[in-house]
Amino acid sequence: MSVIVIEGAYVATLDPARREFAGHVVVEGNRIVAVGSGSAPAYDGARIVDGRGCLVTPGFVNTHQHFYQWVTRGLAVDATLFGWLTTLYPIWSRITEESVYVAAQASLAQLARTGCTTASDHHYVFPRGGGDLLAAEITAAAEVGLRFHPARGSMDRGQKDGGLPPDSVVEDRDEILAATEAAIDRWHDSTPGSMLQLVVAPCSPFSVSGELMRESAELARFKGVRLHTHLAETTDESEWCRETYDCTPLEYAADLGWTGDDVWFAHGIHFDDEEIKQLGRTRTGVAHCPSSNARLGAGIARTADLRAAGAPVGLGVDGTASNESGSLIEELRHALLFARARNGPQALTVRAVLEMATLDGAEILGRSNEIGSLEPGKLADLAVWNLNTLAHAGIPDPVAALVLSTPPPLTLLLVNGRPIVENDTLLTVDEPTLATRTAAVQRHLTA
Ligand code: ZN
Repeated sequence: MSVIVIEGAYVATLDPARREFAGHVVVEGNRIVAVGSGSAPAYDGARIVDGRGCLVTPGFVNTHQHFYQWVTRGLAVDATLFGWLTTLYPIWSRITEESVYVAAQASLAQLARTGCTTASDHHYVFPRGGGDLLAAEITAAAEVGLRFHPARGSMDRGQKDGGLPPDSVVEDRDEILAATEAAIDRWHDSTPGSMLQLVVAPCSPFSVSGELMRESAELARFKGVRLHTHLAETTDESEWCRETYDCTPLEYAADLGWTGDDVWFAHGIHFDDEEIKQLGRTRTGVAHCPSSNARLGAGIARTADLRAAGAPVGLGVDGTASNESGSLIEELRHALLFARARNGPQALTVRAVLEMATLDGAEILGRSNEIGSLEPGKLADLAVWNLNTLAHAGIPDPVAALVLSTPPPLTLLLVNGRPIVENDTLLTVDEPTLATRTAAVQRHLTA
């Protein structure tokens, strides 16, 4: 079994005591076998990684994205969410297996380059005749090498039923539930060290019927998988819920079975005090996507209040049609800056956002016992950040350097013990070739 010893680095373990020290991390096969201060014990035949001037953190967990949007970036750049959606839906209705595969590769490549080791992707656009889109992104994730939690999304409320999406991209409810169950049976792996776990994820209240929300929750619980959807992203949505159902978005979701520690919502910007208490009490999670929320002017989620109430708050890139950089590490900095801009200097600490990117994300995906911290026995998902750069050298606290300065280069990114990024270069997919290919797909799709 291969052994990798990272020596001489500053290690932020995120273990229960939140220990940090100058020390080492040892990986054997796909597991962490030692973490400690000072030098590592000798291991015969080990590969030694020089970690001097580097920070080692657990790999980041991306709790919300839409990979397919990589090939529709930079459109409707000054629109509101609803205006942006109605511009993009007709383009998205043309996606195919090929475009989803290329977009997923690009999204995953950029995630790996920005410290992500586990990604969830919410895919909800399934045009008729578009091919096996879930298989396309699962193939891409295996090739790039990230741990993957694809969320089988769905929409059954098209324009003819008062929803936003064109009727050509909505599916029939029975069809959706059958396809979702088949996907779980085909791919979901709940064994230790799993690289692939499915999630049930109808898109949002204004594109999905209440019946589909309720039956999706029943299916997920019957199958023992998690539930995810968009909720409370804009004030338009809150008004729509009030007019249509005479309740708040969370009251609507809760009534359909959508609270609990197996549920997480993307965005959750406009939850009020009562809703935040309910989310905390039920340990329902939130995927906070600050860059996308700012790009669409949707607002700033109450991350500190949510965490104080007991709700895990992970970070998410969201679809790259509303966050063109697709960088997970930028979400840490934006989460911190926006929380403080909203609620003052004590709103969120540097270390709290690191917890959100690691521990909270792992909890939301139900993987806390395997990922999210650097501890012996956990899976070897970690990032070695090189802080020997003009932008970082001299900042005394390495965690502050990571969160507050520009994204540092990666000396090494391990997923399941396997090097995916080394010396800031992706090892698994050729980046220049992929860049050319994504541009060609975008041109074809938006022509
Ligand atoms: Zn989203």
